[in-house]
Amino acid sequence: MRYDSDLLYRPPGEWKSYLLQCTIGCSNNQCTFCGMYKEKKFRLRPVEEILEDIDMAQAYYGPGLTRVFLMDGDAIVMKTDDLMRVLHKLYETFPLLEKVTLYAGPRSTLSKTPEELKALHDAGLSRAYLGVESGSDDVLKFIHKGVDAKTMLLAGRRLVEAGIDLWVTVILGMTGANNEGGNWEEHILSTAKIINEMKPRHLSAMTFAPAKGTPLGEDVLAGRFTVCSADHVLEECKLLIEHLDVDPLHFTSNHASNYLPLKGGLPEDREKFLTLLDRALEGKIRLRKTLNRGI
Ligand code: SF4
Repeated sequence: MRYDSDLLYRPPGEWKSYLLQCTIGCSNNQCTFCGMYKEKKFRLRPVEEILEDIDMAQAYYGPGLTRVFLMDGDAIVMKTDDLMRVLHKLYETFPLLEKVTLYAGPRSTLSKTPEELKALHDAGLSRAYLGVESGSDDVLKFIHKGVDAKTMLLAGRRLVEAGIDLWVTVILGMTGANNEGGNWEEHILSTAKIINEMKPRHLSAMTFAPAKGTPLGEDVLAGRFTVCSADHVLEECKLLIEHLDVDPLHFTSNHASNYLPLKGGLPEDREKFLTLLDRALEGKIRLRKTLNRGI
């Protein structure tokens, strides 16, 4: 119930969840496109404080909470014992609790053994959101993701193998219109490849939108990075969908950053999505306005 700031970030699907702050900021905080935690110095909250917050949430909401999202950007970085204490206390306090979810950074995930991840899953860690962004080493380096594709793949696979429901996000348009951040086809094909090998249950394809105060936002303003056109992003989305081979895969591309909202299951909705993308490219479907993040 106590937060370090009014700016709280959570995945769109967690709008019903009680937000429990376990860490402040992001342990990486380097990605050049991301402005979410730029103002925050990363730190862990003392676990006793987190446990107190759970009691405060019970007093405020009552015992009927069904979903909890552990903030901020990388709560899996907490010591496993502390995270276990938080999970036990949550499930004891809220008997109807169904899901506890968090953002997972790849390096923090790999700092835990497969046995620790499995124990966290068994204690009720239901889902992890992993920002893969791209399967291309060139792109991951360009955006300062802090890991290469091989490390990212290992982290994702560890989560899946532990039984944790994995929700991955990737970013269309991340190479720029002039391939400033890498070759766009290589970005998309290697992204499809990493997803096919990682086998998450959910995949969200977002679209790059420059954010004020970020290195990439500054590059856009200075003309060093050109934002891809809507048609280019639609072509990337098509290429990605054509090459995805995970069955079943819950696929969404309906974030505020996306020009054409898509939501459904692969492989069964593949042809429907491709038809919609073709119709949008022919100008037969009206596209959404680009997300404006202050630039
Ligand atoms: S994209 Fe994720 S890992 Fe990168 S700085 Fe933002 S919150 Fe941290």
